[in-house]
Amino acid sequence: MKHRLIIIFPMLALLVFFAVQGFMIISIWKQEKENTLMRYESLTREATSVLLRAKKFNGFEKAMDITDKFAGLVVEEKLPELSRKADTANLKEKVLSQTYAILQKNEVLSSFINEYIKKKGYSTDYKSFIWISYLSLLSEKGQFIIADTVPDKDKIKKTIIVVNTYKEEHNNFVIEYSFLVDLTEINSLVFRKAFFSILLITFSVLIVVLIFWLTLRNLMEERRLSGLKSDFINNMTHELKTPLSTITVAGRTLEKPQINTDPDKVLETAKMISKQSVNLNQLINTILEVSLLERTEFELDRHKVNADELTHQIVSSYLTSCDGCATIREEYKAPGTLVAVDIVYFTTMINNLLANAVKYCDKDPVIIVSTGVADNEFQVSITDNGIGIPHEHIDHIFDKFYRVPHGNIHKIKGLGLGLYYVKRIATAHGGDVSVSSRPDRGSTFKIRIPI
Ligand code: ADP
Repeated sequence: MKHRLIIIFPMLALLVFFAVQGFMIISIWKQEKENTLMRYESLTREATSVLLRAKKFNGFEKAMDITDKFAGLVVEEKLPELSRKADTANLKEKVLSQTYAILQKNEVLSSFINEYIKKKGYSTDYKSFIWISYLSLLSEKGQFIIADTVPDKDKIKKTIIVVNTYKEEHNNFVIEYSFLVDLTEINSLVFRKAFFSILLITFSVLIVVLIFWLTLRNLMEERRLSGLKSDFINNMTHELKTPLSTITVAGRTLEKPQINTDPDKVLETAKMISKQSVNLNQLINTILEVSLLERTEFELDRHKVNADELTHQIVSSYLTSCDGCATIREEYKAPGTLVAVDIVYFTTMINNLLANAVKYCDKDPVIIVSTGVADNEFQVSITDNGIGIPHEHIDHIFDKFYRVPHGNIHKIKGLGLGLYYVKRIATAHGGDVSVSSRPDRGSTFKIRIPI
């Protein structure tokens, strides 16, 4: 529960952090969008007033003259002909579209604004257009309204700027029109402006995520190690208890007066005590060696030896010491190869692998010890017909204190240090150890040592 909280709280903090950063990006984006619209609004308005001040015209003079002539023609020729309603609508549409065409073709405001904005160093990624809200023709009979629309403010796109609205009365028509600019590419304009801030925020988010991930990984690793350590303590207690209780029982046996009369029994008990003392001693030595390994670097006492011969000697003495506990096939394919090894450590390495091959076997152990030379390395492989190692544990078996859970872990004795030790020794020699294994089929451990 405590561990879960340790993870949940930082996760929540991270989520809050993401939300804040997201909110910041959205705010920066909105603010920059508003700024861009305001910037273009003032730029375009500035341009129109510059044009008016400098040249004394608004850019639509020519368009208005032409429209006036056109309106005059319509008033003269078309209006008197009008009789049917359908014709009225048709005429209005034609006059309006023609007026639009005249205005667009003959106005000079848009090109002036374009130049002005370019000169000021801003992008001209926008579209300008004219919108006629009122148009009526003036005839002797009065006004003939062509268009009269009030814009629905809610429907106007948010990217549109109304640069100016003009109301004009000429000989033949009255008009109200606006010059508009649509910032169609506003998002890319905003992105260019806000890019650096967004990049910084994204970068800070990435850094926080990285730190979070590293911390979480360390935490998990620590949890795993503390789990391994408590497993180790349980195993060690169990391992130490067995010889100790045997020695205690043997001691009590020796205390019994009737045993003194039976020298065979005394000898047998003494042997048992001595055997268990050796076991105890070995256990304590293993633990001491490993804690020593932790503190100092390996000091190897290396000697050049005939690798095949040394391996054979180790295998033979192992077989003798374990009373022929396994069938071992030896295949030596590195005759005459000399390697510089620390004989004691090298022996420990091979012994640990042989002991595991016997220990983790549920039938009569058959072991193949083979040697060879490849890539300027002496290689010794130990293949067994044991229980194998499940795939998900393979990556961890060389870790300190790691033991593959076999249901009841106490069934097969061990401290989870043997392979750790093998790995440390192999790497101290400049080599390495690797494993391939298939559950229920067996495993092969391969040690490589540079020649
Ligand atoms: P220990 O044998 O004391 O548990 P080791 O470090 O020697 O520790 O081995 C670590 C784990 O690797 C063992 O618990 C065992 O599950 C697995 N293992 C080692 N050698 C073999 C093997 N030859 N066959 C199957 N499993 C093995």
